[in-house]
Amino acid sequence: MHRTISIIGSTGSIGTQCLDIVQRNPERLRVVAISANSNVDLIVDQARMFKPKMVALADESKLNLLQQALSDSNIEILGGEEGVCACASHSEAEIVLGAATGIAGLKSVLSALSEGKILALANKETLVAAGDLAMETAKINHAKIIPVDSEHSAIFQCLEDGGIQNVEKIVLTASGGPFRESKRSELDHITPQQALKHPNWDMGPKVTIDSATMMNKGLEIIEAYWLFGVKKNQIDVVVHPQSIVHSMVLFTDGSMKAQLSLPDMRLPIQYAFTYPDRWPFPEGRVDWRTPQTLNFSPPDLEKFPCLRLARQSLEVGGNAPAVLNAANEVAVSLFLDEKIQFMAIPEIIENALDHLSGAAPKTFDEVVHIDQMTRKYVLNARKRNTLNL
Ligand code: MG
Repeated sequence: MHRTISIIGSTGSIGTQCLDIVQRNPERLRVVAISANSNVDLIVDQARMFKPKMVALADESKLNLLQQALSDSNIEILGGEEGVCACASHSEAEIVLGAATGIAGLKSVLSALSEGKILALANKETLVAAGDLAMETAKINHAKIIPVDSEHSAIFQCLEDGGIQNVEKIVLTASGGPFRESKRSELDHITPQQALKHPNWDMGPKVTIDSATMMNKGLEIIEAYWLFGVKKNQIDVVVHPQSIVHSMVLFTDGSMKAQLSLPDMRLPIQYAFTYPDRWPFPEGRVDWRTPQTLNFSPPDLEKFPCLRLARQSLEVGGNAPAVLNAANEVAVSLFLDEKIQFMAIPEIIENALDHLSGAAPKTFDEVVHIDQMTRKYVLNARKRNTLNL
């Protein structure tokens, strides 16, 4: 029996690693739909290899290239956000991998949840900006969310036998990124090339910059809050540079559970498809025959203000997490385009949070409104030079 999957974001880092899992398990997994933002060449190769029933490209300006390239196939080809949502809600897909980057993935995530799918969630930004809406949509439609983020997959695995009422703390581990050992003064002159070199994980550019600022861990605190239904003060962060312990749960009796493995995103992706079962994955084992050192230390909030800002936005509530997410997305792309310095990222976010308070979004349109308002505010503030950047 095949499990049927739809992949939203098939050409990105998570999407291509997912297809590697499919290739290793042809008798167990079948791809029924794939969608990407704009990488025509790669999605055409993927369509030829995995023969899905539906392919969608969010960037409609390139749709005719996709149509031409697949004109000899009988694959249904769609464009725009609606096309991507059609992939996410495809009637034959049992599991939907939500692996688009950023808030752009929200509508497809909501489409999958509205159809009561099993959502393998790799897009943390949707829970940060629209946690209430996404969890409510899942509840109403009896959809199940299985986390693919490695930390949240670890927590999910630690909680497999239930017992959330017995949890005292969730402890998210953080690699600390490429600047864990850098001095605060050195961070002013970081280039995008330096920030894109993550020591342990090979990921897309957005999440890699988020790891360098530690905003990634901040977003993951908010993600954990929505996924596991714990209180805001029950989520801790500890820096663990080796990325072997992927997260931990502290129970009320003081006992702790952790999930360990080599850092390889294919494990949490595969587990989302096999849960509650496990399938073999032959690559990569921790080698206990050689000495191993696992270090843990508290995060430096002075050096990484993004972590403090994310926690603050969760405490404040209302529209703050959505503003935080949007301001961060703009700031990261400005940094990647070499328009701002690395340490301007938290300044931009803090400034937006200080000026744009409001109620929590209840609908998709309200999330989009907060997102666009924040992007506009950040870009205008930059133009007026009211930010000291
Ligand atoms: Mg993660």
